[in-house]
Amino acid sequence: MDVSYPSEAESFRAEVRDVLAEELPPGWQGIGAIAAREDAERFTAQWRQTLYRRALLGITWPPEYGGRGLSRLHQVVLMEELARAGVPFGEHTDLFSIKMLGSTLLRWGTEEQRRRFLPRILAGEDRWCQGFSEPGAGSDLAALATRARVDGREWVIDGQKIWTSVAHRANWIFLLARTDPGARGHAGISFLLCPLDQPGIDIRPIRQLSGDSDFNEVFFTGARTPADMVVGEPGEGWKVAMTLLGHERGEEAATNPILFRAELDRLLMLAASRGKDHDPLIRQRLAWCYARVEIMRYLGYRILTQVQNGTELGAAASVSKLYWSEYHVAATGLALDIEGLDGLVPEGRGPLRTVRTDDPGAPNSSGSWLGAFLNARAGTIYAGTSEVQRNILAETVLGLPKERRQ
Ligand SMILES: Cc1cc2nc3c(=O)[nH]c(=O)nc-3n(C[C@H](O)[C@H](O)[C@H](O)COP(=O)(O)OP(=O)(O)OC[C@H]3O[C@@H](n4cnc5c(N)ncnc54)[C@H](O)[C@@H]3O)c2cc1C
Repeated sequence: MDVSYPSEAESFRAEVRDVLAEELPPGWQGIGAIAAREDAERFTAQWRQTLYRRALLGITWPPEYGGRGLSRLHQVVLMEELARAGVPFGEHTDLFSIKMLGSTLLRWGTEEQRRRFLPRILAGEDRWCQGFSEPGAGSDLAALATRARVDGREWVIDGQKIWTSVAHRANWIFLLARTDPGARGHAGISFLLCPLDQPGIDIRPIRQLSGDSDFNEVFFTGARTPADMVVGEPGEGWKVAMTLLGHERGEEAATNPILFRAELDRLLMLAASRGKDHDPLIRQRLAWCYARVEIMRYLGYRILTQVQNGTELGAAASVSKLYWSEYHVAATGLALDIEGLDGLVPEGRGPLRTVRTDDPGAPNSSGSWLGAFLNARAGTIYAGTSEVQRNILAETVLGLPKERRQ
């Protein structure tokens, strides 16, 4: 394990710190400290434009597409500093636009697709969502049934997607569709890019247990997109999708210990303020959380060493995802146990996003903990459920027999 960063990464860290010092409002305590949801959303949108203006989005992309050609380690340093400052990493759609689609176009897109979409993604003009899951295809993604056929110079798409996060904030969707009716399994699937604003597409929000609507059903009824809006060869979209799903580049390994440690400190304060820090059972569970977050830190160092060496993360990404998501269910459950009946009467706003901890700097309010508790369950489902991660680890790390596949 070698976690010291080379000097060029450290000088980049100094650059990021200068930007933060210049751009953040005086007395900044983190996005969670902004009490009203609308104000926090407004800040997020403005901050995203600040990151763009200061050339801190898509920094690993080549300069000809609007990036800076920096290394994965520079990206890790940037995310560490943003997490420490408690600012958003971008807008809601940026996970899909920059981290997923942008990186995938760099690997599989045509020159024309890269030149057309990458600068517009960074500028925030094109905002993307991900249309993979369907009512009959989640963990078993290859069971997808949405179809697309060529009609003249266009693809015509029919079918349904579900759990499409942020579709209501996006203007484009990347999706998987069956384009060869005779093929089965992973074959005959194409990776398509499709504009959302058209009569053939209907986006319906799904209301969640938390009361928010972060994701949607998306219906395609004769939806159209130009024939050149296919990434990779037609019928060979599965390998494009696998590149996209392997988007973890060590950033979580760097930011998780920072975010979860800050949340744990808040949990310790919550226990003290309720006089529960003398309860032996609560103390035992707090100690468990502490040990887990420390282990998360060391797991993170191991991944960062891999990033430095330029090795692919492979199973390490599954270990990391399984570890933090299961931890978070237990930690937020403990917070609710400490709050007792107060937890049932949420006061104050919940997290802006469904992923990982509550917004950094959030107060120790029942609204914050209840929101984080409800979101924590989602963490064990999206980007591969805990069971699927365990299957991957059983097969690739432990060498257990492969699961039977139909
Ligand atoms: C917050 C959130 C955001 C999401 N955003 C998007 C999005 O933007 N775009 C998108 O396309 N999808 C999105 N998803 C969908 C997500 O990818 C799927 O929910 C996930 O792949 C699981 O699929 P499923 O819900 O159909 O459950 P299923 O695959 O039906 O699984 C049901 C249960 O069976 C278990 N299971 C399934 N297969 C196995 C197996 N082989 N071995 C053992 N256990 C198994 C699962 O672990 C789970 O407990 C999102 C989901 C969430 C929760």
